[in-house]
Amino acid sequence: MTVQDQKSFAERKGVLGWLGLGRGPAAKKSELSVLAEQIRLLAPGTPSDIIASIAEFHARHDLSVCPFSLGVAFDYVTDSDPMIVRLIDERIVIGQAVTIEWLKKLRKMDPAETNSDDLQRKFAELERHLTEFGTTATAAREATKDYGSSLEGHARQLDSAKDIHVPVSELLGMVRVMIDRTSEMEQEMGRSEQQAQSLRRKLEVALRTAEEDELTGLPNRRAFEKFYDSEYSEARKAVEPLVIGFCDIDHFKKVNDTHGHDAGDRVLKAVSQSLLRVTKERCFVARHGGEEFVVLFRGKTLQEAKELLDSIRMELEGRRMIDRKTKAPIGYVTFSAGIADVFAYPDKRKALGAADVALYKAKGLGRNQVVIATV
Ligand code: GH3
Ligand code: MG
Ligand code: MG
Repeated sequence: MTVQDQKSFAERKGVLGWLGLGRGPAAKKSELSVLAEQIRLLAPGTPSDIIASIAEFHARHDLSVCPFSLGVAFDYVTDSDPMIVRLIDERIVIGQAVTIEWLKKLRKMDPAETNSDDLQRKFAELERHLTEFGTTATAAREATKDYGSSLEGHARQLDSAKDIHVPVSELLGMVRVMIDRTSEMEQEMGRSEQQAQSLRRKLEVALRTAEEDELTGLPNRRAFEKFYDSEYSEARKAVEPLVIGFCDIDHFKKVNDTHGHDAGDRVLKAVSQSLLRVTKERCFVARHGGEEFVVLFRGKTLQEAKELLDSIRMELEGRRMIDRKTKAPIGYVTFSAGIADVFAYPDKRKALGAADVALYKAKGLGRNQVVIATV
């Protein structure tokens, strides 16, 4: 899509509203076309048009804003995924609703799995445009305010003059109209700023949820990767030990098979809660996927990390779990873990791999234990 195409695309569609604010094309049309004008005036060129088109895409299809929907909308309005564009257009033509569920099917992927770097890039881009827009809007609002008060001053002066000639009174009328226009503009710009702020807040929430595991509320694998990167460099700089641990619930498939997937989910939540105890100890725990968790211990030796994990493991093995919903006894749930001294390996990937190998050693040794990786 060329710049011109993008522009005409945005112009053809008009701006239907800031994300989440427009509820159906008809309801907000006047407000949205005002916004469209403002955005075009304030930030001519394509970037704002893309944001506007993304907003319109959400409003038009009544989609709630989430990382997944933003990703699809971005690909759609910038034409970066021609297949998505074609399928969505076809659906619009046949008059069927474009829903999140349908879009998910289209992408054949879970929204949480949206490519991390790609999503980050899109957010960064949106955020940059928003900041630009916010700055321009604030400056413009201030300018109209000054202009408005100076006009008002002139009008008062003219009004109080005794010898008003016809041309002057005409001038006075014009000034009044200008004052009204200015104050309207000021209000509109104030509204735009509020909308921009509300959009920014929504983006922040969306970004946060993109790093959170939906079931357990723990940070997800993406959050872990980021955290591992930063902890690795910080701990190295501070010459502090860093230990990585992989935990995997034992025979978890049996829990699912015997008590059902929902009960399995509840067990996963319970284990997450137990593991969360380590976070009080300057540690970080995340759900790495399935029934697997990853733990980072900063400033702890391998032995200290092992003791911490063992204490959680022992607390868990002593608890007979009952399915809170069905009251069916689930029995004992245990986990196995492998831990590795991160800086004993050439890089952080190799340390992660070593912890994984140690975990499988723990499984082989009969499960329900923590094994320290050998270098
Ligand atoms: P092992 O002791 O060797 O780890 O055996 P396991 O049964 O725990 O391991 P396996 O890898 O065979 O099975 C893991 C199971 O975890 C299979 C999968 O259905 C289940 N699982 C993965 N994610 C979820 C989830 O989010 N909810 C539920 N209920 N089950 C899940
Ligand atoms: Mg597993
Ligand atoms: Mg398992």
